[in-house]
Amino acid sequence: MFFSLVILNYVALILLVILLATTIFRRMTKGTTNHAFMFILFTALAAVIFDIWALHLDNLSAPNNIAQYTMHLGYLLCHNLTTPAYVVYIISLADIWHKVRNSKVQMTALFLPYVLMIAAMIVNVFTGAIFSVSNGVYRREFLFPVLYVIASYYMILGLIYLYKYYRLFKGGNVAAITAVVPMTLVAVVIQYFIPDASVEMFVNSLSLLFISMTTQRPEELIDPFTRLRNFNTYADDTKRIFANGKKVRIIMLNIGNFSSLQTMMGFDTMKGVLRAVAQEVEKADKNNKIHSELYHLDGGRFRMIISYRHRYRAITCAEELNRALEENIVINELSLKLSHHICVVDCPEDIHDFKTLTTFGSTFHEKAEATGAVLYASELFQNKQFEMVSNIDSIIDNALKKNNLKVYYQPIYSVEQGRFTSAEALIRLQDEDYGFVPPDLFIPAAEKSGAIHRIGGFVLDEVCRFIASDNFREIGLDYIEINLSVAQCMHGDLADKVLDTMKKYNVSPDQINLEITETAVSYGQNIMKNNLDKLSNAGISFSLDDYGTGYSNMRRVIQLPLKIVKLDKSFVDEQNNPKMWIMIQNTVKMLKDMNMEIVVEGIEDEEMVDQFSALECDFIQGYYFSRPVPEDEFVEFIRKAHIKV
Ligand code: C2E
Ligand code: MG
Ligand code: MG
Repeated sequence: MFFSLVILNYVALILLVILLATTIFRRMTKGTTNHAFMFILFTALAAVIFDIWALHLDNLSAPNNIAQYTMHLGYLLCHNLTTPAYVVYIISLADIWHKVRNSKVQMTALFLPYVLMIAAMIVNVFTGAIFSVSNGVYRREFLFPVLYVIASYYMILGLIYLYKYYRLFKGGNVAAITAVVPMTLVAVVIQYFIPDASVEMFVNSLSLLFISMTTQRPEELIDPFTRLRNFNTYADDTKRIFANGKKVRIIMLNIGNFSSLQTMMGFDTMKGVLRAVAQEVEKADKNNKIHSELYHLDGGRFRMIISYRHRYRAITCAEELNRALEENIVINELSLKLSHHICVVDCPEDIHDFKTLTTFGSTFHEKAEATGAVLYASELFQNKQFEMVSNIDSIIDNALKKNNLKVYYQPIYSVEQGRFTSAEALIRLQDEDYGFVPPDLFIPAAEKSGAIHRIGGFVLDEVCRFIASDNFREIGLDYIEINLSVAQCMHGDLADKVLDTMKKYNVSPDQINLEITETAVSYGQNIMKNNLDKLSNAGISFSLDDYGTGYSNMRRVIQLPLKIVKLDKSFVDEQNNPKMWIMIQNTVKMLKDMNMEIVVEGIEDEEMVDQFSALECDFIQGYYFSRPVPEDEFVEFIRKAHIKV
């Protein structure tokens, strides 16, 4: 019966060969962890082959002592290497090689026992104290248990690493790797009492199969399109890097026009593009020998994590990749130009937490100036504008908390009446650290974060308070225009909020006018329509702001309760272009025929005032009259202007 258990060695051999083949087939061959896993596979494979061979020689009728001795020696050396190899695998999984390598104690604890065992095996040739072969009979001698002591030592060392750094492993991994220990112990006990049973290597290969199924799982780790690691792996790896204070350099590559290309070209073409870019990334990695971990997160965002040792070569790699991507990519006879952005980030010097890493990673190319050169996070962070954009959410929070927001007013001139009849309320944010923050910058951010509702509420309150003041009554303006952003229009209680605030200050509906943009109009959602209808029924009028910059969907425009249309500055700026002038003339005529009033925005000189007055535009707004100014300055300005009139 014991002899028949030798068959387990063959089962182990087949299992290990299949494991090795699938590891290669599943492309789990790159990176330190995969190398360590393959190392265990190879040692186990060598041990099984030595074992099969040794048992075969043991049973020959004409014994060959030297060959028999060599095979048993080979088996014991390889078999006993699998336990330190497990420890190496665990260290790689936790990604703490940089710590182990720098600690003499840990390096000694890791390698010395195995080196001593090799020395003992050499001495055994002369002493025969561990095992012996004589007259074709293999025998375990009195020092043989030392081998078990060493194997147990490595098991314990592995467990120590596993539990000391357990937060650096994924949940299931610790359980899976720990489960190997009791399995091995049972096998060792069986084999100790029944040396011919060949159980150890069988259990060893089962353990490897178990780890391969639970821990070495490419399905969870690999992006199917590029075969590079995916976002989950990037998240795990970078979190681990931050947790154990490892120094790395990361090359970030974002394809800026990825989603617009995908809309135009379709998914299949973009899969080809991703593969082509992945190849360039792999080529740059190989050419520069930086042995980086490569990732494709999604939507054309690639990452390379490079160890500190290769940090200088990482720069050459980033430059090379940048140049390579200048070339068009040819897919199915289509030649595509990618707008790629590369940034080199040092961790933890530039960024030391995962959240910042991901937000920086997905937005750096939008915030930085497009120069086409490789960007460096360290330089970007020194740039005030970039820093401001990166911190915009906290700037807004701070402004709301500390009352750093002010409402400014820009007068609007009525051509017909020859005086200022209204004004536009424009928000201003003055930050303690960054100074003046332009609304074009913080309004879109506030829309995303939801802070726009509080900002909008503040503006509304301020404007109504001003309208109710004696000053406003005295200067005799008809109404104030208030900007509404898309997010505000989409909010269910916008109408109630506006009406409540007006009631609070006793402001009548003809004293305010709400500006909406074509972008808001193009959303055409029910909530917005309800809001506009409700406000319009209450007697409030609307202006269409920035006319001529968005999608001019005339059908939608005429369905809205609009009183005023504001021609955008960009429209007006091109008035010297004869075709544009024809368009302006006809647009004005069309809008007038529809009984709409027209405001021309962005008028900076007298010539433009004359030109647009001649066109019979109703109102003119621009720096020519006044920039947006604080309330008291504005009151003063209108007072003086009316005295002149
Ligand atoms: P907008 O509503 O189209 O406002 C007109 C912008 O043009 C203002 O920029 C104004 O300062 C500027 N402007 C006026 N006349 C001239 C001129 O002659 N030459 C030039 N070059 N510019 C001129 P500002 O104040 O920077 O505001 C930018 C945008 O931010 C506004 O565009 C508006 O969309 C938004 N915004 C401003 N305040 C608020 C607010 O309280 N709520 C909301 N939701 N958005 C606001
Ligand atoms: Mg406006
Ligand atoms: Mg405008």
